[in-house]
Amino acid sequence: MIKYNRVLLKLSGEALAGDKKTGFDEETCIGVAKQVKQLVDDGLQVSIVIGGGNFWRGRTSQTIDRTKADQIGMLATVMNCIYVSEIFRYVGISTEIYTPFQCGSMTKLFSKDSVTSCMKKGGVAFLAGGTGHPYFSTDTATVLRAVELDCDIILAARNIDGVYDSDPKQNPEAKKFDQIPMQKVLDDKLGIIDLSATVLCIENRMPMLLFGLSVDNSIVLAAKGKSNGTIITI
Ligand code: UDP
Repeated sequence: MIKYNRVLLKLSGEALAGDKKTGFDEETCIGVAKQVKQLVDDGLQVSIVIGGGNFWRGRTSQTIDRTKADQIGMLATVMNCIYVSEIFRYVGISTEIYTPFQCGSMTKLFSKDSVTSCMKKGGVAFLAGGTGHPYFSTDTATVLRAVELDCDIILAARNIDGVYDSDPKQNPEAKKFDQIPMQKVLDDKLGIIDLSATVLCIENRMPMLLFGLSVDNSIVLAAKGKSNGTIITI
């Protein structure tokens, strides 16, 4: 049984790249699409935000203007959405891509009404281009859109399987939380999501479930409330 009515699924760009860490791992993307198809067929309404870390981050360059660097990052998320949207269509899901700025005929301009209607018809809405503003991240865009679209929860699929009290790559003793309040994530500076996204979650009472994309069937399990990731409560 699916636990939610409407979710915002956040896919980390890096997690979609698989072991290559850049570009896309097609098998991973098809796996994601098949899981989402199962959920949409069962009536779950889904919008998706994809990060851009598999191509470019605004902070990648110390040389060029930050605003321009961030524009490249936002366009990277558009490329990610065009690609993953096509993979979704390949497995039989109807999709639309929305951006907060005009991209000619490649995407539609974001509006709550249009995205809501897409989801209600069983389509998956890809929300590309972040917030449309530099100095933000797709984490912030994710929370903003989840709140705006009245989602029940953010399902964040990452290349790490939950929230730890320290970096498990550095510390083999690191402890994973089953559940943690967003305020503690903020107070302990756990750095799971950026500060502005954390504050938006708290202010708008938006919970998040963080889990590993590489775990078998992880998106389906997350939507059914059976994930072994970390629930970030508010
Ligand atoms: N970005 C931006 N505004 C947004 C969302 C993203 O400027 O609202 C840019 C920023 O340069 C960021 C890149 O797009 O580094 C990729 O987004 P993502 O959230 O994956 O980046 P990260 O948080 O890993 O830097």
